[in-house]
Amino acid sequence: MKALVLETPGEEPKLSVKEIETPQVGPLDVLVRVKACGFCYHDVAVMRGVLRRGVKPQIILGHEISGEVADVGELVTAVSKGDKVVSLLTESCGQCIRCRTGREYRCLYGKGVGHAVDGGFAEFVKLRENGMALLPDGIDLQEACLFACPMGVALQAARDVARLQPGETAVVTGAGGGLGVHAVQVTKALGARVLAVTTSPEKIDRIQELGVEEVILAGELDFSEMVMALTEDQGADVVIDTVGFALFSSSFRSLSQYGRMVIIGEVAGGKVSINPAEVMFKDASVSGSTGAGLRHLLEVAAMVQQGRLKPVVSQTFPLEEAITAYRLMREKQTFGRVALVP
Ligand SMILES: [Zn+2]
Ligand SMILES: [Zn+2]
Repeated sequence: MKALVLETPGEEPKLSVKEIETPQVGPLDVLVRVKACGFCYHDVAVMRGVLRRGVKPQIILGHEISGEVADVGELVTAVSKGDKVVSLLTESCGQCIRCRTGREYRCLYGKGVGHAVDGGFAEFVKLRENGMALLPDGIDLQEACLFACPMGVALQAARDVARLQPGETAVVTGAGGGLGVHAVQVTKALGARVLAVTTSPEKIDRIQELGVEEVILAGELDFSEMVMALTEDQGADVVIDTVGFALFSSSFRSLSQYGRMVIIGEVAGGKVSINPAEVMFKDASVSGSTGAGLRHLLEVAAMVQQGRLKPVVSQTFPLEEAITAYRLMREKQTFGRVALVP
């Protein structure tokens, strides 16, 4: 099969498309013919070499996989040949305390797909039977690659971690990015009034089309003043932050009393200073959230079927053009997600 291999990480990573042996399925494995695989910031970080821990050498990246079952191991019962499936982000054991409490994406023995084990930037990928969901009818298989990450990730952050309630105000930072575009949609679907923050002027119109109340252009300025002006000086109940370090101060200052900030992305990396008294007197919480479970993926699929969410795959590239996708991501020139189509 054809696969994109990360030969050497670096600012200009060495990637090569190679002919390698198609993986053999073990008793509980499923071979999936990849239809599309989302290009995540995680992949950018591994390609750049800023994320190295636990990465398999010569890794085939990509964890946002949709495709069709091509072969199944002898003990597999959940799916059969020809089924349309979407992958979860982690190969999990199914037995440990986290797997048994609905947090299989944080399995104690878990292996990240496209990180510790080969992922979906290839014609085929070998996944565990419990590492995927069957797609309901009537869903575009290519777009479905985004159901776990970033869409399920955004759903978990906004609903389960931030406990966003209908009628509350939510700020989403990095609103034109892959996580951001979907976090905007999720917060809207949960009934929030959404203020979208972006640093890319050219993305404003497309963000507006997602139905947000206001798009705030964050440049050098502290955007929390805009948030305060738009909320009668109350601040936002929830901030879903997909940017991290670079916007942390403004994001935190945007919070209302009892505000909840959830960090789901870190683009630049760096340290911030925070005054504990401000956290205390605001009764605020600052949390992190990554990953998504099978239940999030299935809920996203249902919400897409109901027309409440729409995956945004703005561009697709063949494996041979992965470096172009990488550069566009690095230069923040992509809207929503781009995907590789082997
Ligand atoms: Zn991802
Ligand atoms: Zn486990």
